[in-house]
Amino acid sequence: MKTLLSVMLLCATAAISQPQLHNQKHHEWLITNAMIVAGVGTPAEGPYDIHIKAGRIHAISGAKDDAKVRQLELVQLDAEGGYVLPGFINMHAHTMYNRAGIDMAQPYQHYLWLASGITTVRDLGSDTKVTLKEREQSAAGEIIAPRMFVYPGIWGNQRKEDLDKTIKKYHKQGVDGLKFGMMDKETFHHASKIAAKYDLKIANHVGVEDMTAWDNIEAGTTTIEHWYGVPDAALKGVQNFPPDMNYSNELHRFRYAGRLWQEADQEKLQAVLQGMVDAGVAWNPTLVIYEASRDLQRATSSPWFQDYLHPGLEKFFKPSADSHGSFFWGWTSTDEVYWKNNYQIWFKALRDFAEKGGIITTGEDGGYIYQLFGFGYLRELMLHQEAGFHPLEVIKHATVNSAKVLGEGDRLGQVRIGYSADLVIINGNPMADLSVLWPRNIKPLTGDESTGGILWTIKAGVPYHAPTMLKAVREMVKTSRAEHKIGYLVD
Ligand SMILES: [Zn+2]
Repeated sequence: MKTLLSVMLLCATAAISQPQLHNQKHHEWLITNAMIVAGVGTPAEGPYDIHIKAGRIHAISGAKDDAKVRQLELVQLDAEGGYVLPGFINMHAHTMYNRAGIDMAQPYQHYLWLASGITTVRDLGSDTKVTLKEREQSAAGEIIAPRMFVYPGIWGNQRKEDLDKTIKKYHKQGVDGLKFGMMDKETFHHASKIAAKYDLKIANHVGVEDMTAWDNIEAGTTTIEHWYGVPDAALKGVQNFPPDMNYSNELHRFRYAGRLWQEADQEKLQAVLQGMVDAGVAWNPTLVIYEASRDLQRATSSPWFQDYLHPGLEKFFKPSADSHGSFFWGWTSTDEVYWKNNYQIWFKALRDFAEKGGIITTGEDGGYIYQLFGFGYLRELMLHQEAGFHPLEVIKHATVNSAKVLGEGDRLGQVRIGYSADLVIINGNPMADLSVLWPRNIKPLTGDESTGGILWTIKAGVPYHAPTMLKAVREMVKTSRAEHKIGYLVD
C-alpha cells in the first residue's frame, strides 16, 4: 500500500508550526501556491506549483494544470502568502570550529547559513581536509549543511617551488579552486599560472602590494574579493599614507583603507572596471564586512546577537591585536566619516562595473568584524540595495551571478525546470522589504509581526525548517555561554 503523506499547510505562517517535514527526504513532492522569483532579474510570477523529483525541479505549473499531479498522493508544502526564491550562494565563507579558544562545534555555522536561505557556500580557506569531508557529507545528505565548494587559502609571498608543491597537493585532494591572499606581483603571477595548469578557479584578496586589479585582469582571476586592488589600480602614484603608517598594525591598515577610494582617479578607475569586464573578472565585494568601520555602534549591537552570537565569537570580536579584524582600539568619529564617504565611491564603482556588464556576486566573510554567519549575508543583500541595485538585481547577484561564477550556472541559482531544487520560502515579499528575511523572533523593519522570516530552505530537494534550526542554534549558544560563564555583553 502506498503511504499517504499529504501535509497540507493552509497558510505560510501555519508552516512554522508544522515542522514535521524538516530533513525529510522524499523522492517526489510538491510546493504549492508559490510566488516564484526565478533569480534572473524578472519579477515574481505565480502562484505556481513546483514539482520536485529526485532533488531537482521537475515541473513548474499553474495550479489548474496541476490537478493531476495534486491527485498523486505526494507530500505537499503550501507556500501560500510567501515567496519562493533560488537558494542563496555565499561566495565568501570560512568554516570555523573554534573562536578565541572556545569550541564552536558544527552544526552551529551550518544551521545559521541554512536558516538564512544559504544553500551553497564557497569556502575561501579553512581546515581543507575537514571542509572536503563536509563537502562529501553534505552532498550525500549525511549532515545538515549547505553544499560546499572548497577553495583553500594561499597567503603571502612564497618560493616558486613551494607554490608548485602546495597547488599540486590541493589539486590532488580535489579542491574546487584556490584563494590567493596578499601576494606580491611575482608570487601572484606564478601561482596563477600553476592554478591555470590544473584548471583551478581563483578568488583573490589583493593586499597593498605591488600588484593591483590590472594583474587580475592579465591573469584572468575568477573573482576579486572585497575591493582592494581596484582603487589601487586607479591611483596616481601610491596612496598618500602618513609617515608613521605601519601596515602590520590593523588599526592603521583599516583606517587608511577608509581613505583609499577618494584617491582613485575617476578616469583611470573606469578603465580598470572596463578591463575587469573584458577579462571576465567578477567582483565579490563583501560590503558587510567593513560596515563596522562606518558605524561601529550599529555593528556591535545587532539585534540578533543576544540569541545567536556564540561566546567564542563575542570574545574574538573584542578589540585585540591578536584577533584579525578586531582593530577597534582608538577608532574615531573621523574614521567613520571617512568610511561613510569611502562607501559612496565604492557603491558608484559597483554600479559602473555592473552597467558595463560586470558580474557582481554576494558573500559575507562572517566570523570577523562583528559579522555573524547568515545574518551578515542578509545584511549584505541590504547593502547591495543601498549601493543602488533593485531588489531583483540584488537577488540575481546572490543566485544567478554567483552560480555562474562557481561554474555551476547550468544547475544552480535559478528556480527553473531541470535545476537543483535549491529554494528559499519566505513569509513575506523581499522585493518590498529585504528585512523580511530576518528570523521571526527579529521583527522586520516595518514592525509587522504577521510577515517576516525564512520558513524553509530546500537544498537538493530536501526541506530544512529554518525556525527549527534557529531554535537549535539558540540552545547551542545558551549551553556554551553557561559552560564558559560568558553572559552576553557581560565581561
Ligand atoms: Zn575571508
